[in-house]
Amino acid sequence: MADSHFVAHLSGMRTRILHSAIAALLLGATNLGAQLKAVRFAAVVDGSGTVTQRGVVIVSGDTILRVARPNDPIPQGAQVVDMSRYTAIPGMIDVHTHMTYYWDSTSGTDPWRQPQRQPEQTVQLARWNAMRTLESGVTTVRDLGASNYTDIAIRDSINKAGWIGPRMFVAGFGLQRARPPYRPNTDTTRTQRGRVYDISQIPEAVKQQVDAGADYIKMYGSTGSGADVTGNETFSGAEMKAAVDAARRLGKRIAIHSYGPVGGHDAVAAGATSLEHAIDLDDATLAEMKSKGVFYVPTVDHNRYYAEYAKDFRYTPQQVAALDSFRVLNFETARRAIKAGVKLGMGSDAVFHMFGQNTRELGWYVKAGMTPAQALGTATVNGAAILGQDKKLGRIAPGYFADITAVEGDPLADINVVIDKVRWVMKGGTVVVDKTAARSP
Ligand SMILES: [Zn+2]
Repeated sequence: MADSHFVAHLSGMRTRILHSAIAALLLGATNLGAQLKAVRFAAVVDGSGTVTQRGVVIVSGDTILRVARPNDPIPQGAQVVDMSRYTAIPGMIDVHTHMTYYWDSTSGTDPWRQPQRQPEQTVQLARWNAMRTLESGVTTVRDLGASNYTDIAIRDSINKAGWIGPRMFVAGFGLQRARPPYRPNTDTTRTQRGRVYDISQIPEAVKQQVDAGADYIKMYGSTGSGADVTGNETFSGAEMKAAVDAARRLGKRIAIHSYGPVGGHDAVAAGATSLEHAIDLDDATLAEMKSKGVFYVPTVDHNRYYAEYAKDFRYTPQQVAALDSFRVLNFETARRAIKAGVKLGMGSDAVFHMFGQNTRELGWYVKAGMTPAQALGTATVNGAAILGQDKKLGRIAPGYFADITAVEGDPLADINVVIDKVRWVMKGGTVVVDKTAARSP
């Protein structure tokens, strides 16, 4: 008995040693090619419109190897993830955010009148905005304007310090026309903090952002922000051209903000990469956008947001009426742009508690005449093109970052599936949002 027990024990040990040896071999094999995952979906919808029914996305490390068919062999050692209840779409791209605009609702103030806080604290608090953004299925943002380079700090914390958040392409200080009266002792002979006193300072203002680490340039080419829906041009066409040229010389792209049509026209003529917000663009400007490939980012939904949360902002009924009127014109301009064949990007202009509602813009696009597939294209392949990342972002295809959003339902039949039914998000091969267990029966 004792002997046989001893033998059995030995053989058990041998078996265990053998198993761990095999496990080590397998681990070694997978480590050679980074960690492999095989994620099974009900369907894989690519940003370019291709659909693979029951597709299996093979991921190696942070990159997509391929989209396999349901009966293709799974690579040896791959971790199989069953997401067969859900449809995969590319992680979406929101090309207009302000991630560093955080509202502390316990401060007793409205979002625009919060007490000053240290930039370091702003960076920490913005993690809430970053998380809500991921939960909306957005894995990349173009952040268009922040103070004190807090946007650069968040981007780098995400990229280098393991913070959970979307990929960020940031602009630093947006360029804006400094307007008198100036604070006492203001040196108007040189640009600082994105403020420009004279056209000759524009190249230096652009260079300061790039030197600080900005990926993109933002210029405020007109008035208009929050409840202010005026669209008076603040930089001339020549000044916009100076900014575009300065950005290009440094290898950067530029987004120009204009609420009004004059600034919108001048931004397009100057050669901006994208035009933000503008209403009442005339047919000639829309035609020029199409022929030059200037993207339109209408941000229709952000004025819906301001009006809906008017109480928190302490906006008056008159201000809400102005926001609503602007939104109607903004929507109508988007409808005409779509009809004219202008390419759109999905930009939320999210600030404060709008984070998490980043993709509601897509509902307006479908109302304005797009199919759900076309709307999805604005938030994927078009977003990637705006960023100059069309070989790495916006598609579920070989060589692209493994940025995948899983939705419950058919996103090509109903855009609200994309807006309201995000259940799981992978960014660069890592699952960053998982609500699959919380689903209703
Ligand atoms: Zn903005």
